[in-house]
Amino acid sequence: MKILVVEDEIKIGDYLRQGLSEAGFVTDLARNGLDGHHQAMTESYDLIILDVMLPDIDGWRILQSMREAGNSVPVLFLTARDSVDDRVKGLELGADDYLVKPFAFSELLARVRTLLRRGATPVTETTLKIADLELDLMRRRVTRGGQRIQLTAKEFALLELLMRHQGEVLPRSLIASQVWDMNFDSDTNVIDVAIRRVRAKIEDDFDTKLIHTVRGMGYMLDLPNGD
Ligand code: CA
Repeated sequence: MKILVVEDEIKIGDYLRQGLSEAGFVTDLARNGLDGHHQAMTESYDLIILDVMLPDIDGWRILQSMREAGNSVPVLFLTARDSVDDRVKGLELGADDYLVKPFAFSELLARVRTLLRRGATPVTETTLKIADLELDLMRRRVTRGGQRIQLTAKEFALLELLMRHQGEVLPRSLIASQVWDMNFDSDTNVIDVAIRRVRAKIEDDFDTKLIHTVRGMGYMLDLPNGD
């Protein structure tokens, strides 16, 4: 397994290279954005660890240009800012995960191993996939078995929430607050109606049921056997 680390801070770069090498990875280190960009575009890696704040070309531009070129190698980005905007930006640009500095090396190693286990399939937060059901967050598009399904904005938000929490029972109160911005005392019948509509759209023409009613508790989206 070959990893590229793009990091301009000398101590952190050396530390990552040494730690990853000791963990058994072949590790290249680029100490600036230009070198990092060049190596990412010309060599083959299983994973890239990308610092966002670089003095020449920043990590965002490297990531963007890689994805535009169709390079889907998993990218873990490092950010010094614990800002939601930053994380969203990175994930929207096609990164797979991130760590906020400072971080423990054990944490980085755990993330690296998880990303490598996912293999070559590009996994981005912009597409959610369970069985043959796919939800494209950027294009606001839902398909099942490749067949396009039209959902209203609320139905889309509801399905997104259920998919993001696959295998978890979501109480009506939580669904109400997340999708309708209502509190628990509001009329929760609206949720049951919306669930019925989403079910009709994503399940009626298909054999596998994905949305399950958990009596007295709420709803859960999962494969029938939870696998
Ligand atoms: Ca930096």
